[in-house]
Amino acid sequence: MSILDPFRIGFRNFFRPMITEPLPWKQTRQRSERYRASFALVHDEHGEEACIGCKMCEKICPSQIITVTTGAKAKSEATGKMRGTCADFTLDLNACIICELCVQVCPTDAIVMVRVQERPSFDRNELMLTMEKLYANEQKKQNAWADGTKLIAMQDPGAGGGKD
Ligand code: SF4
Ligand code: SF4
Repeated sequence: MSILDPFRIGFRNFFRPMITEPLPWKQTRQRSERYRASFALVHDEHGEEACIGCKMCEKICPSQIITVTTGAKAKSEATGKMRGTCADFTLDLNACIICELCVQVCPTDAIVMVRVQERPSFDRNELMLTMEKLYANEQKKQNAWADGTKLIAMQDPGAGGGKD
């Protein structure tokens, strides 16, 4: 190696195009249509929390990272009917395998995936998605490609399931 090699390499790299990917949360990177990164809990068409605390997502999750505390039944202000409620909900994103089964099984489309990542952190607790964080994600993060209704419909053979 010659003493001039570092200068030669530096000079060559100076004119190379930049290939560094932008930071994920800058939202400038093109993602595939079905890209999904985190979760949100959403409200229904009446503006009420859609989650009825049924625990279906908790039971199906292969990573066992969802914890649902069912609340007391309450009368819906919009429909006047009694309905289930959720008192508390947590999802530990640290161990999620993004299988989307929780979304697929939800009877009320209350849990959805979103296209925007959580911020990386040195503290694992930051990726513990509390109910508060999940409802905040509904407000500020774009939903991913499907909700539970769409995923179930895709599996109906009569509707051409699996071809979408
Ligand atoms: S997507 Fe994550 S939270 Fe949902 S069922 Fe799969 S592993 Fe569990
Ligand atoms: S998110 Fe859906 S599946 Fe999970 S407890 Fe709430 S209503 Fe049930």
